Amino acid sequence: MRRFVLNRSQDVTGISGTGVILNGVEHIPGGLCSVYWPKYGTTGQYPSMKVLEAIHCYNGNAVVEWLDNPDRNCEYCDNADAYEMNEMDQGQRTGNVTAICKDCWYSGVQLVFHEPHQ
Ligand SMILES: [Zn+2]
Repeated sequence: MRRFVLNRSQDVTGISGTGVILNGVEHIPGGLCSVYWPKYGTTGQYPSMKVLEAIHCYNGNAVVEWLDNPDRNCEYCDNADAYEMNEMDQGQRTGNVTAICKDCWYSGVQLVFHEPHQ
């Protein structure tokens, strides 16, 4: 999973306000996103970041800012829409990473973790 915030520059409706208006987590690459709106204490779920952006980032009035794991090319098919995932061992991060896209994630590809390169 990776965390993100939604940073709104223009508030067309006057409801959400501007600045960082939403905290969220994308659970798997290209998949379900859970969000929290601090101003109203409400939560929501979106089937994908694409849907969330279509609803909340229209006309460029808001941008998604990732807090974890910047976008990378997929290490299994070179798709540019991938992100870094951490290897976990008994609930602990090992420090090893891989980068995978949604298609490869759902294809069940065998993940190969390695030390992060700069
Ligand atoms: Zn891929």
